[in-house]
Amino acid sequence: MTQNLEIYDTTIVGGGPIGLFTAFYSGMREMKTKVIEYLPFLGGKVPYFYPEKIIRDVGGIPEISGEKFTENLIKQAKTFDPTIILEQQITEMEKLEDGTFLLKSANGDIHHTKTVILATGFGALKSIKLTLPDAEKYENNSVHYTIHKLASYKGKKVLISGGGNSAVDWANELEPIADRVTLVYRKTTFPGIESNVTKMMNSTVQVLNPYEVIELKGHDDQLTSVMTKHVESNTKKEIPIDAMIVNHGFQIDLGSIADWGMQMQNGAIQVDNKMATSIPGIFAVGDIATYDGKLNLIAGGFNEGPIAVNHAKLHISPTDSLKPIYSTNYEPFVN
Ligand SMILES: Cc1cc2nc3c(=O)[nH]c(=O)nc-3n(C[C@H](O)[C@H](O)[C@H](O)COP(=O)(O)OP(=O)(O)OC[C@H]3O[C@@H](n4cnc5c(N)ncnc54)[C@H](O)[C@@H]3O)c2cc1C
Repeated sequence: MTQNLEIYDTTIVGGGPIGLFTAFYSGMREMKTKVIEYLPFLGGKVPYFYPEKIIRDVGGIPEISGEKFTENLIKQAKTFDPTIILEQQITEMEKLEDGTFLLKSANGDIHHTKTVILATGFGALKSIKLTLPDAEKYENNSVHYTIHKLASYKGKKVLISGGGNSAVDWANELEPIADRVTLVYRKTTFPGIESNVTKMMNSTVQVLNPYEVIELKGHDDQLTSVMTKHVESNTKKEIPIDAMIVNHGFQIDLGSIADWGMQMQNGAIQVDNKMATSIPGIFAVGDIATYDGKLNLIAGGFNEGPIAVNHAKLHISPTDSLKPIYSTNYEPFVN
């Protein structure tokens, strides 16, 4: 079965910021590296949730937008030309008698690898979709589940459905750009950061709560209005709009990875100080990895990747010594 499969030294599952930096480091340790990402793009939560936010807590980078940060990570990850596969969700793992692994994706593709580094975040990122009739028809043109470019809403009547932190944040960011912003939330109180909620309440954002969207109206794939309903009195209000942004949260789909037999803790994978899971040869880094004192910060994940790679290399060649190669000393960079 493995005869026709090219074997990799390590396969990184998840192309978020930590998976990408891990891929760079793995290349620098001269490991034949593959990255497999479920989404059609790389970068994980950064481009998914906050491409236009400014990141200020990564050492050596005083400030950088999520978009530029992702661009830099991708460029760095590609330094050693790893194999990058998009739109595949890894679901199954088989450990072979020789200690190598077969990883199977939901579409049936199989990948052969000596070690695995799980950088899956909390799992494949899947926005909770609207279940209203025709929602799919409007998707991408006028119904959106994330904001890629705030400027694309310039002069538009935008409705945000949802009341969590991101929904309120988007309302505040769109308010000076859009022609009008309406936020519809089905609960009476907002759970998010108080100062953001106060800012929204004191702005021109039209806040309708406790309301919910009950019908989408439009032609072809262009929305023209939505019907909303007060959740208690059932009073209806039609709101003319050009675009709707749905922020009903996202499902965390770690899928069957959680059933591979690794020791888990509160939905995350337990690792030791080598970032090794309880299955020899499988490592975990970034948000999905947990240990005593763990903080889900990008800066922290950037240390976990090299630790996992160095120990994955030792797993393949146990007689090697553990050496943290510096990029400043790495021969191909110096010459
Ligand atoms: C709104 C917001 C703002 C934030 N701001 C900051 C900040 O300012 N500073 C900071 O340090 N941190 C911040 N964070 C946290 C930071 O984004 C995360 O810690 C970081 O993204 C974790 O990176 P990761 O690579 O571990 O996981 P992720 O970014 O979640 O990437 C994991 C990737 O793996 C893919 N994947 C999952 N399962 C599979 C599978 N089975 N097969 C294939 N692919 C799979 C997913 O699709 C995803 O692309 C913020 C988070 C949010 C939500």
